[in-house]
Amino acid sequence: MTTDFDLVVIGAGSGGVRAARMASSHGARVAIVEERFFGGTCVNVGCVPKKLFSYGAHFGQEFSLAEDFGYQIEGWSFHWPTLRDNKTREIERLNGIYQRILNQAGVTILQGHGRVVGPGQVQVDEQVVTTGKILVAVGGKPYVPDFPGREHVRISDDLFYLQTLPEKVAVVGGGYIATEFAGILHGLGCQVSQIYRRDLFLRGFDGDIRRFVAEQMQAQGVDLRFNTDVQAIDLDGDKKLVTFQDGHIEAFDEVFYATGRIPRLDNLFADAMLPALNDRGAIRVDEQFQTSQDNVYALGDVIGRVELTPVALAEGMWLAAHLFGQTRPAAMDYSNIATAVFSHPNIGTVGLSEEEALEKGHSLRVYRSSFRPMRYTLGDKQERTLIKLVVDDASDRVLGLHMAGEDAPEITQGFAVAMKMGATKADFDATIGIHPTSAEELVTLR
Ligand code: FAD
Ligand code: NDP
Repeated sequence: MTTDFDLVVIGAGSGGVRAARMASSHGARVAIVEERFFGGTCVNVGCVPKKLFSYGAHFGQEFSLAEDFGYQIEGWSFHWPTLRDNKTREIERLNGIYQRILNQAGVTILQGHGRVVGPGQVQVDEQVVTTGKILVAVGGKPYVPDFPGREHVRISDDLFYLQTLPEKVAVVGGGYIATEFAGILHGLGCQVSQIYRRDLFLRGFDGDIRRFVAEQMQAQGVDLRFNTDVQAIDLDGDKKLVTFQDGHIEAFDEVFYATGRIPRLDNLFADAMLPALNDRGAIRVDEQFQTSQDNVYALGDVIGRVELTPVALAEGMWLAAHLFGQTRPAAMDYSNIATAVFSHPNIGTVGLSEEEALEKGHSLRVYRSSFRPMRYTLGDKQERTLIKLVVDDASDRVLGLHMAGEDAPEITQGFAVAMKMGATKADFDATIGIHPTSAEELVTLR
C-alpha cells in the first residue's frame, strides 16, 4: 500500500526537527506536525531565551566591576520590557529560520495537533495522513505538585513573558531551572528566595560544586531556604501568601514552580495505539528508539532519558540514519555527556561526581582548587571559581571534571572531548596551559 509519507514526525522541537531534516536528506518523504512553535521548548521557552536572560542578568555586576577598572558608570537603570521584547523578537526570528530550514530540506509542514490514531495513521486536526513510520518527539511540560493554592503559581513558560518583574519572588525547586532562574531574577534586581525540600539543591551534581554554588549565591544575596516546602498559597490582593511547612506565612509578589517536567502525552494516542510507558510515565523505547507499537518511535524529553537539547539532536540524527541511512550507526553512547547549569555562578560538568565514582567502587584521587579569577582582583569583589578533577587511582583516568565559576560551560565543552577520549591525569599534566586563563588551572592541578 502506498502511503502519503515514509515518516511523520510529531513535534518540531530539538529532536523532531533534526530527525525530520536528516531523514529527508537520506531520501525519505517526511512530514512534521507542530501545534505551537517551531524549534520547540529550547528555542521558545527554554535554553535560548533563558541564556539571553542570563546574559542580561550579569550586567549589573559588570557595571560595578567596570568601576574597578576606572570607568564611571552613573545612573544606570534596567528596563524589563526592553529585554523581554528584544528576546521575543529574536525568538520569532528563530521560529522563521526553523520553518525555512524544514522547507529547504523538503519536509512537509503540517500545522496543528498531531495524534496517532491507527497503525501508520496520524491525525492533524481534521486531516488524517498515512505513513510508513511515526516518530513521537513531543517533549515535556512543567510539573507542579498538587497542593492548596496550586493555581496561583507561575511556571517557567510564564517567566519569559511577564508583564512586570516582581519585587519579591519565591522560586520553588532545586534543579536546573529553579537554580538558573533564582540567579537570573536576582541578577535582574528581584529579591529572591529559593525553596528546596531537601538539605542541598542540585541533587546529582558533585557535592563540592553544590556547596560552593550555594555559598556563592548566598554571598550575592540570594536567600536559599533548604529543608522546607510550600504547604499552601492564598491570595491577599496582588500578593501570594505562602504557608511553609513550619507554619510560618510570608507574602511574595510571585511564586515560581520549577519542580521537574513530565512527558507531553495529552490527547496524543488513540487507546489502541498507546505505547508502554516506564515507571516515570515516559514512553519506553529500546536501543533503536522503537516503542512497544510497531513502526512508532520516540526520542527526546518524551522518553525521559537525558533531557537536554544536544541529546535530543543526537538521538534524532541517530534514528534518521538508522531508519533511512546507507549504513547502520553504532548504538547511541550516553557516556560522558557534558552539561551546564547557567546558574550564577555557572556550572560545567562532565563525567562522574566524586559521590558517583565512590558508589561505583573506584579508589580515587581528588584534585580541587578554588581561586579568585584575575578579573575580580582590582577591587573588593569576592567572586571565586572552583575546579575539581575526580581521578581513578588505579588507571589514572579522569572520571569527572567539575567547574563552577565564570565561563565554566565554555571551558567544560572543550575538556569534554578529552574526557570522551579517555584522558588520564598524566595527559592533563602533559598539557601546557594558556596563561593567564582560568582554564589553565585544570592542567596545573597537582
Ligand atoms: P521539545 O523541544 O519540547 O519539542 C517538542 C515539540 O512538540 C514542541 O514544539 C511542542 O509544541 C510539540 N508538540 C507537543 N505535542 C504535540 C502534538 N500532539 N502535536 C503537535 N505538536 C506537538 N537543554 C539544554 O541542553 N540546555 C539548556 O540550557 C536548557 N535550558 C532549558 C531551560 C528551560 C526553562 C527548559 C524548560 C528546558 C531547558 N532545556 C535545556 C531542555 C531542552 O529544552 C529540552 O531537553 C529539549 O527541548 C527537548 O527537545 P524535544 O525535541 O524532546 O522536545
Ligand atoms: P529537575 O529534575 O532538574 O529538578 C526538579 C526539582 O524539583 C528537584 O530539585 C526536585 O527535588 C524538585 N521537586 C520535584 N518534585 C517536587 C515536589 N513534589 N515538591 C517539591 N519539589 C519537587 O527539573 P527542572 O524542572 O529544573 O528541569 C527539567 C529538565 O530540563 C532538567 O532535568 C534538565 O534536564 C533540563 N534543563 C536543562 C538545562 C540546562 O541544560 N542548563 C536548564 C533547564 C532545564 P529533588 O531533588 O528532591 O528530587
